[in-house]
Amino acid sequence: MNEVVDQAASHHTPDTRTEPPSPIETDALIIGAGPVGLFQVFELGLLEIKAHVIDSLPVVGGQCVELYPDKPIYDIPAVPVCTGQQLADNLLRQIEPFGATFHLGQEVQIVERLPDRRFFVRTSKGTEFISKTIFIAAGVGSFQPRSLKVAGIDKYHGRQLFYRVRDPELFRDKDLVICGGGDSALDWALNLVDIAQSVTLLHRRDEFRAAPASVAKMRALCEELRMQCLVGQVSGFEDNHEALRRIKVTGGDGVTRTLELDHLLVFFGLSPQLGPIAQWGLEIERKQLVFRSADSRTKSL
Ligand SMILES: Cc1cc2nc3c(=O)[nH]c(=O)nc-3n(C[C@H](O)[C@H](O)[C@H](O)COP(=O)(O)OP(=O)(O)OC[C@H]3O[C@@H](n4cnc5c(N)ncnc54)[C@H](O)[C@@H]3O)c2cc1C
Repeated sequence: MNEVVDQAASHHTPDTRTEPPSPIETDALIIGAGPVGLFQVFELGLLEIKAHVIDSLPVVGGQCVELYPDKPIYDIPAVPVCTGQQLADNLLRQIEPFGATFHLGQEVQIVERLPDRRFFVRTSKGTEFISKTIFIAAGVGSFQPRSLKVAGIDKYHGRQLFYRVRDPELFRDKDLVICGGGDSALDWALNLVDIAQSVTLLHRRDEFRAAPASVAKMRALCEELRMQCLVGQVSGFEDNHEALRRIKVTGGDGVTRTLELDHLLVFFGLSPQLGPIAQWGLEIERKQLVFRSADSRTKSL
């Protein structure tokens, strides 16, 4: 198993490895590094086939790691109890001898049939593959950030509206509003408080899903006036057609106030989207394109 996978599984680090020259030619390409995709590596390995595995998440483990890493699971044969993260870690150990190559943090966006009946695949990072077979182990789909439902605000996505933080330096000396009440919102609020000019955390209620230690730290920072926390929801915005200037925030009291800002960071969690995979299922004959799901014969959960 390569180093990237070990790091990704245990420390949730993004895949920063330089991809080999494209297109990568392979016998087997697995879309999805959830439990089903990981066990598919095992099955192929028994046939002495080495697989390449793609996942849009920066870590392996699919829903188990993304949605419930610490929740106990009781229905794995011969494993009385394990957490979601432990299941992924155990699967990684189980497939270690089979030398799969992982391409994480990239979504499969194009699948085309070539004249020689192989498949051409391209990901959101531009990595290209030519594969004899494709195994779709995409579960409920590729996890995408839940967006802010405010008409017209999307045009600032990537400029002033962000659902992910790739480079914290972008926010240096800026006035930030961070929306959300989970771990991502709190973690980034606490991280950016020393970088940004101001940080306002905005959540629809005064209760948070984030780790209690993070919530306590956030409340202490508010007490010290180093950041502020508001209860309310974004209900609109004001711009000058080139830049987002203010957002409108409607509080629990029904009053709408305006808030000046440079950047709006939104962490409303992730939702799965099957996207183009559903379409390929209809378009491509299933002879060489194999769907695997948690309910199929290869059931691993
Ligand atoms: C809160 C919760 C608790 C659960 N508890 C249990 C339990 O106790 N016991 C149990 O048996 N089951 C449980 N489940 C269900 C279980 O997690 C799923 O059945 C299982 O994860 C399905 O595995 P999978 O590999 O098919 O799909 P997933 O785990 O969904 O993995 C699919 C992967 O494919 C990737 N992907 C999809 N499309 C693309 C694309 N186009 N490009 C790149 N990557 C893509 C996704 O990012 C994802 O990582 C639970 C589910 C939830 C949400």
